Amino acid sequence: MDYNQLEPKKVFSYFKNISNIPRGSGNEAAVAKYVYDTVTALGHEAHLDEANNVFVRAKASPGYENRAPIMIQGHLDMVCEANRATQHDFLTDPIRLLLDGDRLHADGTTLGADDGVAVAVMLAILDSPELPRPELECLFTTDEETGLTGMRAFDPSVLRARRMLNLDSATEGEAIVSCAGGVRSHVYFPIETAPAPKNYTVCTLTVGGLFGGHSGEDIHLGRTGAIAAFARLLYTAQKVCDVRLANVVGGSRDNAIPRECSADLAIADPAAFEAAVRAEEAKIRAELTTDDVNFHVTLEPASSGDFLTADASGKLTALLRLLPNGVHAMSRQIPGLVETSSNLGVIRPADNAYEIVVLSRSSVESKIDDMEHRVECAAKLVGGTYEHINRYPGWDFTVGSPLQKLFLDTYRDLYGKEARILGIHAGLECGLLKHKVPDMDMISIAPDIRDLHSPDESLSVSSMARVWKLVCEMLKNA
Ligand SMILES: [Zn+2]
Repeated sequence: MDYNQLEPKKVFSYFKNISNIPRGSGNEAAVAKYVYDTVTALGHEAHLDEANNVFVRAKASPGYENRAPIMIQGHLDMVCEANRATQHDFLTDPIRLLLDGDRLHADGTTLGADDGVAVAVMLAILDSPELPRPELECLFTTDEETGLTGMRAFDPSVLRARRMLNLDSATEGEAIVSCAGGVRSHVYFPIETAPAPKNYTVCTLTVGGLFGGHSGEDIHLGRTGAIAAFARLLYTAQKVCDVRLANVVGGSRDNAIPRECSADLAIADPAAFEAAVRAEEAKIRAELTTDDVNFHVTLEPASSGDFLTADASGKLTALLRLLPNGVHAMSRQIPGLVETSSNLGVIRPADNAYEIVVLSRSSVESKIDDMEHRVECAAKLVGGTYEHINRYPGWDFTVGSPLQKLFLDTYRDLYGKEARILGIHAGLECGLLKHKVPDMDMISIAPDIRDLHSPDESLSVSSMARVWKLVCEMLKNA
């Protein structure tokens, strides 16, 4: 099928237009200008703010003047990931769109359906004067994927609407009504080194083969984090002999469960060390979920150099054992939903200190405070320092709001089945907006999008058409 024949035509036409404009996070000026120019040419009132957010107000349809206004929101930026074999410059090249049956995907890169779908749907609605609806406010935000800085900077005093459809989830037939807030805690452990004693054996210990995954959405699966597993091995080994550490490196991103961790070690008694490590490795292996079947622990000879002192080596191991990691509490309102978790995600040497990053999440604000405190205590005990950065609020569950009801009723009328209401253990811009406008009634919906944030990302074309119909019908009944 030809792309230009895809329905709804306006949605896919706008999607193609924005796919031609590079729009990685932090690089939204051009796409923001495109949206601003497009909507003003359509005769709507629009504002472009300093963060490149675009806010649009569109008058109510005839007969809808007395209805309460409604708002739609999504983000302009996209994650830029390409396959290793793909030549793609995300600052200059358009996203190349390919159709494979019902799946729309890109040519070796992320598609940007997250969240180009929202941008295209909002533009198509603003370009469809025949659709009956109340006064409409559309908000196109920036930098959702890296720091939520667009929504952070957005001035909510322009808003008249107190109900909002966020179009930034990924599954048709469900509405997200709660999300987690979070904070990135950086701990700095000072590096004090000394040459290893001459009779010590030096080797590299590596933990690898773990599955990893998203530190929020996958945390309930019980997969093992490489840094935590590594610390367990070290701690048991340090009980039987002196083990000194150098070049400790683990994980790559704070929002991913780490798959690998390694360090160079200077070891007083290699035989006792290896016996202790292998015994603990067997215990860890017995606890693994099937996802982590490729878990392995390797020991290889390495060259000598400077190592942390004996005291610092013990303290760093203790710190990694003490920092919070994994699921801490489940939601009391939504069965199966994680309420509070943390991910011991990264350790790397940086400026005479090891930098260790823990990303904690919770839908309950006070639990995020609690996670910060636990990190602080662990850092203080070993003479480290800490900072908490990029904190963003969660969105706590409200039972049976009018907008949830409108969604459920409209979905049932259109498709003859029940939609689901659920929460997620990950961040959404809704949390920040709820913090700014506490009486905002919100839901987050979307068509089916698979493999977000990866070059395999794809959008179901038929799902897009159904969600378009759903959004139009909800606006009509709003
Ligand atoms: Zn998104």
